[in-house]
Amino acid sequence: MTERFTGSFTQQEPIPDEAIEAALAVLRHGRLHRYNVADGELGETALLEQEFAAQTGAKYCLAVASGGYAMATAMRAVGVQPGDAVLTNAFTLAPVPGAIASVNARPVFVGVTEELTIDLDDLAAKADQAKVLLLSHMRGHLCDMDRLMEICDNAGITVIEDCAHTMGAAWRGVPSGRQGAFGCYSCQTYKHVNSGEGGLLITDDEELAAKAVMLSGSYMLYERHLAAPGPDVFERIKYHTPNVSGRMDNLRASILRPQLKDLDRQVARWNERYQALEAGLRDIPGLTVIERPAEESYVGSSIQFLLLDWTPRAVQEAIARCAARGVELKWFGADEPAGFTSRYDSWRYAQSERMPASDRVLTGIVDMRVPLTFSLDDCVVIARIIRAEVSAVHQSQL
Ligand SMILES: *Cc1c(COP(=O)(O)O)cnc(C)c1O
Repeated sequence: MTERFTGSFTQQEPIPDEAIEAALAVLRHGRLHRYNVADGELGETALLEQEFAAQTGAKYCLAVASGGYAMATAMRAVGVQPGDAVLTNAFTLAPVPGAIASVNARPVFVGVTEELTIDLDDLAAKADQAKVLLLSHMRGHLCDMDRLMEICDNAGITVIEDCAHTMGAAWRGVPSGRQGAFGCYSCQTYKHVNSGEGGLLITDDEELAAKAVMLSGSYMLYERHLAAPGPDVFERIKYHTPNVSGRMDNLRASILRPQLKDLDRQVARWNERYQALEAGLRDIPGLTVIERPAEESYVGSSIQFLLLDWTPRAVQEAIARCAARGVELKWFGADEPAGFTSRYDSWRYAQSERMPASDRVLTGIVDMRVPLTFSLDDCVVIARIIRAEVSAVHQSQL
């Protein structure tokens, strides 16, 4: 009998009991707005910021409504103006060019390598085209951050890191999000902590931190923050920084705090699953495993492989055959955006030039979520199914 996988690729784990209790406490007292605090009360949102700053080693942290909002706020704070060019990855998800469009700026796409990271030669070649890089650590793959920062520092480019897939990851032990002017995180259900929607921003720059707080909609209540600079810094910027409301609320913050405390344990669980899948995908003819650099500590919340130089039809056939056996794979090479996948040329509001080397990679990228509800045995079964179906299609192509 043909083996089938019957688990769900979109089912998350339940919210931990401690987080449910904390949420109930907020619901019972009713003070959901972050600035609605009782006498002497610090508030869940301010505490979340304080804790995440400590966890990442950043001086300042701001909790906001979404990861996309965090990126747009970072760009506003560093001074991106309407019409400005912003460098960003060709291989990323729609909220990244979308954040650039939201500040009426213009994405300039930088290519992707076979390691699925930003093409640093292409970045160096385009470095004179923009003053800001919105760097997406797409699907958790960290590029050579030392070389990237060198290119950007030399060219006077401000780096904003999109860490939607790298919360808990590091490059040479430096947490992802700590090398750019800002690190932006998402707390949306499909990321590494789950509050439905939500985002976090970190920075060491006092003026950028103060601007971000004002932008997020603090009115003149910034003194209720525990991970923001002192009032003197706000004095310098408060009359010139608009309010673009996008705050986090105490209910979401309350359920995030216990999850962040548990992040390291969850990362280890993701990586066990990732490694079981990776081991099962090695040595399949026609399939390229993405090797992870020794400098990178990653979070295996998703896995990718390449079917490099396959025809689109053959890739689609392999994906359809896996789907028929319950294994949901996504393809970044399709002409039409589908689900969360899209290509840089699908974002037609932004101009782009063809990048043949990147197109070759994008056409081969196959992507799979790794929810923590999968057991290690599930991962072994999934890899076995992929092996059988990819091999069968590859064999028939020869
Ligand atoms: C999810 C995601 C975001 C934005 O997060 P939201 O909280 O959904 O706005 C940004 N970048 C990438 C790569 C993402 O996957």
